[in-house]
Amino acid sequence: MSRRLHHMKYPFSLQARQASQRMARDLGALVELLEDPENHYVVDEAEARVYAALTQSQIRYPEMENENDVLIYPTARLIVEELGLPRLRALQAEAESKEANRQLGKEDSELVSELCESSFNWSIDSMGDITQRSKLPLMLRTFELKIRFENYLEVAPAFHSEEWSLINRYLDKGWIPIRRSELDRLISGKFRQLIMQGRFDIPKMSQRLIETVQRIEAETKGRIRQAEPLKLTETLASAFPPCIQKMYDDSIRGDVNLSHDARFALAAFLLKIGMEEDEVQTVFSGSPDKNTSLIGYQVRHIASKRSMGAEDGGYTPPGCKKLQVNNLCPVYLGTASDPLCEYVLNPLGFYQTRAWEITKGIQDHSWYARKRDKKQNF
Ligand code: SF4
Repeated sequence: MSRRLHHMKYPFSLQARQASQRMARDLGALVELLEDPENHYVVDEAEARVYAALTQSQIRYPEMENENDVLIYPTARLIVEELGLPRLRALQAEAESKEANRQLGKEDSELVSELCESSFNWSIDSMGDITQRSKLPLMLRTFELKIRFENYLEVAPAFHSEEWSLINRYLDKGWIPIRRSELDRLISGKFRQLIMQGRFDIPKMSQRLIETVQRIEAETKGRIRQAEPLKLTETLASAFPPCIQKMYDDSIRGDVNLSHDARFALAAFLLKIGMEEDEVQTVFSGSPDKNTSLIGYQVRHIASKRSMGAEDGGYTPPGCKKLQVNNLCPVYLGTASDPLCEYVLNPLGFYQTRAWEITKGIQDHSWYARKRDKKQNF
């Protein structure tokens, strides 16, 4: 296998990314390309790759006999992102990172150094051959390589073991000595991070891909516990902050048209706390302007961002400052008050704290001033 193809088997490599972009400049083009019967095997392999991640088995790297093999990984990512399940993404990140680590373990140090230099722009250097290292202090002789500390810090803080902590590492003029196996771990950790942080707009899927996604979705049932949709109970509603309570009441009563900002804030809040899309639609159904199709579209749009599955679950409702500027904070306007509002920056923060108080039966709010930093002035 040529050096270039060898690099390409690692999905995070510059060569793999360049090759997939050359073949399909964006995800829409990828979906089209996968419709070509010659590429049907790519979808099958991608499905197998996602299935392996889901079942926590070892994923199989392609042989890279055909350059189109490089499309298997982005197709597998597309399937997972279309499903929008954060847990599935985490499983994919775990399986991909593990396999990358296993494969890297079989490579020579030169290739591994090249890979992380070209893929992540990391600076790696050799600590010298065995003879040269034998002249170093004993504690440094087992380190074959060194990495710039700023590159090390991109990944190592996420590792729990003490040995990764910077205070336990030798640092010389900005370089940290590392063992080869540690470099492999840093690379696979970076790859994991890229998957966990990667977000993209899903293009219109082809029938073939939809069927694949449906099969994977069926497999997730029972394997991935999905959060139960939230039913809005009186208890939960009583944890609403004054701003959300007012928008909610106005919407249910249907005697005023909520502004676009208010609709967005209320819908994003309700979806974020776990309400189902149709329940949120119902909250807006009394709108006096009867513009239900527009409201439906807005709610669907916000909900679709949630279902695209960011770990953080899509749109976050605007923070208190924004709501104050938009005249949507009744505490700021002086028409309502709640002591908790002085200590939160976002209605969600209010809701989480108040819901916790309700479940614990806490009615004395004097602890805010002791436990929480005073954050906002009205
Ligand atoms: S302070 Fe924040 S949480 Fe409280 S009512 Fe105003 S916007 Fe809502």
